[in-house]
Amino acid sequence: MQYKPYGKTGKSISVIGSGGMRFDDPDDIDANAETLLYAYEKGINYFDTAPIYCNDKSEETFGAAIKQMKPGSFYVSTKSGQSDGGKLTESLERSLRRLGVERINFFHIWCVVTLEDWGQRKSGGAVAAALKAKDQGLIEHLCVSSHLQGAQLRDVLGEGYFEGVTVGYSAINFPYRAEGLAAAEEMNLGVVTMNPLGGGVIPQNPELFQSLMQPGDKSVVEAAIRFNISHSAITAALVGFGNKQHVDDAVAAVENFKLYDQQTLTEIKQNIHAHALFKNLCTGCGYCLPCPQGLNIPQLMDAYNFTILHDAHYKTPADRLKLHWNLTPSAAASCTQCRECEKKCTQHLPICERMKEIAELGTGD
Ligand code: SF4
Ligand code: SF4
Repeated sequence: MQYKPYGKTGKSISVIGSGGMRFDDPDDIDANAETLLYAYEKGINYFDTAPIYCNDKSEETFGAAIKQMKPGSFYVSTKSGQSDGGKLTESLERSLRRLGVERINFFHIWCVVTLEDWGQRKSGGAVAAALKAKDQGLIEHLCVSSHLQGAQLRDVLGEGYFEGVTVGYSAINFPYRAEGLAAAEEMNLGVVTMNPLGGGVIPQNPELFQSLMQPGDKSVVEAAIRFNISHSAITAALVGFGNKQHVDDAVAAVENFKLYDQQTLTEIKQNIHAHALFKNLCTGCGYCLPCPQGLNIPQLMDAYNFTILHDAHYKTPADRLKLHWNLTPSAAASCTQCRECEKKCTQHLPICERMKEIAELGTGD
């Protein structure tokens, strides 16, 4: 296993972290705890869970595994999405109980989606409560997990509350994340990525992502993990292990692997962008913003991507909007078709047409 330093914390974590939301049978706590212990034996020392994952059984599962691990030889990460300070404290206390630990090594203000949402985490007392818990020794390092566009993430990180950040990063959305990752690197923060396989989209569309493959890659999955962890800002990529085979596959991707240099990464990104189908996808770069109507164009366009890509997780683009971004298609209805965004779109996409199509999905929401 390879390890990288997590920002300024003095800790080194495995470049593969164990995610906690994709167990084959979420209800089989014993089998899933065994999978986590198997990952631990393979050198993985970063274990990421959250309340509600896996029918709300993920933290309990991690707790069952952790009690069999040597104290001090692993790090646990969990989260709270509460804005209210009192509720965050309750959530933290429940996580500590379920995980069976005295403190959370990496505690996340969870899933900050917009700057307004970030404002509510502060005004509602969640950030203050987390800082107090840190003073009390219940939290070791305070982090944030976010779906913010790069420039917005830069602003949030610049406020100085966090020692690390967890963000989605993959061969699909890397332009969306570029500035946020650059900011984290400049500030020497830890960066853990989620969804390195694009939430399963990359293995389900291998023909589209062939350009990720480099000599020596056995599969597009291996290539996607290597693409992720080679980024100089990224400390570790989370892989949600369904079973022990998934652990073996992820570990094989990083064992005896020399991280790509900058030039190789640049070439891979150029190759991905050159693919005909990719030209039709919104990369989430955010250059079309701001919209005079306040539409979050990258989030709406991301949902449209799922009319082009095969993804078994979402039945419709509306599902993607709801489950990933907590939006409904009606969010696209206020588009006035002014075409300001289209002039700036790096992919030259017909944004107006797509907004119309997305809004039409909303009939009846
Ligand atoms: S065309 Fe629609 S989405 Fe684009 S900037 Fe104008 S109002 Fe916003
Ligand atoms: S619509 Fe175009 S400019 Fe806007 S985020 Fe998508 S690819 Fe980037």
